[in-house]
Amino acid sequence: MGRSIRNAKLTLGLLAMSVGVETCIRESEETKFKLVCVGLGDKKHEAVLTRMGGGPTRAAATAVNAYVAPLRCPACDNGERATFLHGQEVDGNLVVLSAEDYAKLEASNEVKENIALTAHHTADLAETIMAGKVYWLKPRTTAEHKTYATLVALLKQKTDVTYVAEFAIKTVPALYALGTSQGALFIRELARPECIQPPPIVETTVSDKDLKMAAMLADASVEPFNVLDYHDKRAALAAELIAASAGQVPSEPSFASILLAPSGDLTSALELALKDVEARKIKTTARATKPKVDA
Ligand SMILES: [Zn+2]
Repeated sequence: MGRSIRNAKLTLGLLAMSVGVETCIRESEETKFKLVCVGLGDKKHEAVLTRMGGGPTRAAATAVNAYVAPLRCPACDNGERATFLHGQEVDGNLVVLSAEDYAKLEASNEVKENIALTAHHTADLAETIMAGKVYWLKPRTTAEHKTYATLVALLKQKTDVTYVAEFAIKTVPALYALGTSQGALFIRELARPECIQPPPIVETTVSDKDLKMAAMLADASVEPFNVLDYHDKRAALAAELIAASAGQVPSEPSFASILLAPSGDLTSALELALKDVEARKIKTTARATKPKVDA
């Protein structure tokens, strides 16, 4: 279990309790790398390391720090990011992967170029945790606006189904769920199960009477949700302060909107997709119901 980063008071009206705030998502240790100068290991680099460090362990530790950021090798002045190798510290030593081995860890073009969605019951994803990044998806051609708009409408209507895909924005594949907002589609990152820190263990004894009163409190305290009530006041204040310091009047923030024009033969594409899914379902059912034969 993690250590609390800070303590806070959790309140719902007059109901209050104190909580410790802990890290929930962490990068997996296995994929955490440090950038290492390609020259590390030759005489020149060794000499610089010895000067900077002490024994081999100390030198390795120094190397870990010195050869990382800012991206400029103290021995050869190399600052080309692409030429750096990737290493991990193992028992005080720096283990460096070859460029070929590291390339195996990068997302394939298949994963970088396709968002291949799979459908799941939303209820099955109740325990998943959102990880971080969110990206808008924009139709590339006008001919695809109709498909796009249909997906937006589908997501709004069928909230009991959630679409998930593995996809890589840059080189690291991540897990995403499809969402919709303001008439547009977006993908939202979901936490990988191995990146979720163990949750705090809490003894759960809930009395029916207390839960009933809490439900009454919840009902009584519901207010209409206006997203603008939650706008970033710090950003607004920062813009105001900067504008005032520059002797200007700050401009009003605006929401982006996407125009959708219907076109293309979506209906027949939907018909084909539907037939394909049904055909696959029949095959799976046939496999599942086949009687087992013991060898
Ligand atoms: Zn170097």
